[in-house]
Amino acid sequence: SSAAAKTDVKVQNKGTDEEENDKDDKAAQSLLNKLIRNNLVNNTNQVEVLQKDPNSPLYSVKSFEELRLKPQLLEGVYGMGFNRPSKIQETALPMMLAEPPQNLIAQSQSGTGKTAAFVLAMLSHVDPNKRYPQCLCVSPTYELALQTGKVIEQMGKQYPEVSLVYAIRGNKLERGVKLQEQIVIGTPGTMLDWCGKFKFIDPKKIRVFVLDEADVMIATQGHQDQSIRIQRMLPKNCQMLLFSATFEETVWNFAQRIVPEPNIIKLKREEETLDTIKQYYVLCNSREEKFHALCNLYGSITIAQAMIFCHTRKTAGWLAGELSREGHQVALLSGEMQVEQRAAVIDRFREGKEKVLVTTNVCARGIDVEQVSVVINFDLPVDKDGNPDNETYLHRIGRTGRFGKRGLAINMVDSKMSMNILNRIQEHFSKRIEKLDTDDLDEIE
Ligand code: ADP
Repeated sequence: SSAAAKTDVKVQNKGTDEEENDKDDKAAQSLLNKLIRNNLVNNTNQVEVLQKDPNSPLYSVKSFEELRLKPQLLEGVYGMGFNRPSKIQETALPMMLAEPPQNLIAQSQSGTGKTAAFVLAMLSHVDPNKRYPQCLCVSPTYELALQTGKVIEQMGKQYPEVSLVYAIRGNKLERGVKLQEQIVIGTPGTMLDWCGKFKFIDPKKIRVFVLDEADVMIATQGHQDQSIRIQRMLPKNCQMLLFSATFEETVWNFAQRIVPEPNIIKLKREEETLDTIKQYYVLCNSREEKFHALCNLYGSITIAQAMIFCHTRKTAGWLAGELSREGHQVALLSGEMQVEQRAAVIDRFREGKEKVLVTTNVCARGIDVEQVSVVINFDLPVDKDGNPDNETYLHRIGRTGRFGKRGLAINMVDSKMSMNILNRIQEHFSKRIEKLDTDDLDEIE
């Protein structure tokens, strides 16, 4: 039948030369960010605060000492190399550590210190002498839960009386067991079973409930419901905390069902700009010509490190091969790689072990490799309808204002269609993209 034929085509496209599918990629992207991040992102924006009770004074702290943490925890924080609270932590921590506990919804991009903040809150609130679960933390996937668990272990290093357990599918407990660990971290389905069906956890004794990565969470069918069902088992005075990197309407609606009477903290992502970027395009007729233009570029200007973006896995693989044959040290980032493998590739590139990183769109989304001075769009970014993807263009080559070094962006054009895309991108940003003659490259140095 024609329906069956249609399905065939779809499947074929997905596995071969279709732009990579990012539908289920949110959790992977988030994990990747965690794996490669080893410090805070820069953000010069102001934190926006909406208090549940606007008349109560707003405290913010500039040091961890001001929080009067348990000495073991202060040691743990300093042991992680933190000197002072991050922007979001300055306001979030006093709220989370207040007595009586306050509820919080916090939104800021990944890398701003949310996880460290709620881990500190959980560790501060547990009573190590009580041998039963007091804090629950739900994450969208097993891998993300593990990452948070690692932070708990690091920060709680000097506090061995507190222990944690993972409520994840593979973790089978005997019937009738009562957990002794103070902190339980896991995925919504298993957590719900452990509180409800199996009664490993007495939800009435929970004092802190954390829901992490709310935006990733609601992308998975069923997680929203399960989370709400867990939340309903908890006592009224349990502290509810919810975190998200983005805040669409759907996330907001969900957040309000999870967190009653919340304080709200938002930190806007820093705007990216093309102001400090020199943009060029190179006119070619084919993939091979684009490759030759690229070689000419390498032959004539000094490129410390470059990122090269391709539309498909196939092109990325081909280009990486060709460049290696030319003697370049090339790293390839591609969608079929495991997240851990991808993180390793990015790490090597950041350490300078490879000078060229060839990648597809989806793979590199949300990754900041700050030292990259040259970005090459081997294919221009387009959405699934073939229209210019301005947002991706900006994200690939844009820099955030204050910290942005000057950069160079080179766009490869190989058809009327891609010329049209380029023109539309140029119009969209009202920033001229100059033509570059790769046989005469004096002008760009
Ligand atoms: P998020 O949860 O918002 O993605 P994280 O809490 O994971 O952010 O923090 C991002 C990175 O910054 C981590 O490597 C973390 O160890 C580090 N970090 C967090 N808070 C601080 C701080 N106050 N000072 C220095 N580094 C920090």
